[in-house]
Amino acid sequence: MIIYKTADEIAIMREAAQIVSRTLGKVAEMIRPGITGLELDRMAEEYIISQNAIPGFKGLYGCPSTLLISINEQVVHGLPTDIKIQEGDIVSVDCGALYKEYYGDHAYTFAIGEVSDEKKQLLKVTEECLYLGIAQAKVGNRIDDIGWAIQTHAEKHGYGVVRDLVGHGLGKKMHEDPQVPNYGRRGHGKKIQNGLTIAIEPMINVGTEKVEVLEDEWTIVTADGKPSAHFEHDIAVVDGEPVILSTFDFIHEALSKK
Ligand code: MG
Ligand code: MG
Repeated sequence: MIIYKTADEIAIMREAAQIVSRTLGKVAEMIRPGITGLELDRMAEEYIISQNAIPGFKGLYGCPSTLLISINEQVVHGLPTDIKIQEGDIVSVDCGALYKEYYGDHAYTFAIGEVSDEKKQLLKVTEECLYLGIAQAKVGNRIDDIGWAIQTHAEKHGYGVVRDLVGHGLGKKMHEDPQVPNYGRRGHGKKIQNGLTIAIEPMINVGTEKVEVLEDEWTIVTADGKPSAHFEHDIAVVDGEPVILSTFDFIHEALSKK
């Protein structure tokens, strides 16, 4: 059952989303060759708590960390480790925060120093997929229109669209109805209505769409070992149109100073 939100609830959800946005901005300041996922995770946890919020992932389904950090062929759900991030890596950082009973949940994939043209193109197209999907989240459309737009753009570039993991409704629970797949048939799925709050999160692979789970039972990797990217925003549908509650502005600001 989809839980549609009031304007007041959406205002709180924007604050929750923006706490995550600022946390990812801090990640952007710190991330560089030689830093470890655990260092980023510690910073993120302290920052979220300093904002009177609670790390949204830690403890959820047994997740041990505040951030999920997925490097290169890792798609999502990578656990922070003491392995040093290296020049040429692409690193997806996914973060959640619980604020006044509502969740924010969003993600960005960082290029570390100079990355290959293949990875650069993957990041560009995956971020484009995110915004093309968001543009479809309006009254008059249906849920599958979001995935249709994402899939069409990704496949135009020969990329694989992950099927096993999807976007989702967001609110007092991290994962609410509806599921928001990154693929779909135009005009199918539930009608989009005002008050819908969802996380849209394309996971796009250079090669096969197929994924596997590592022995840690968390980290999802591409089946062919080729790189994968992941971008996520939190969206509310207001007056018929998509409103992005999260922002990459803090990330862009931090990266522009590097
Ligand atoms: Mg997320
Ligand atoms: Mg999500």
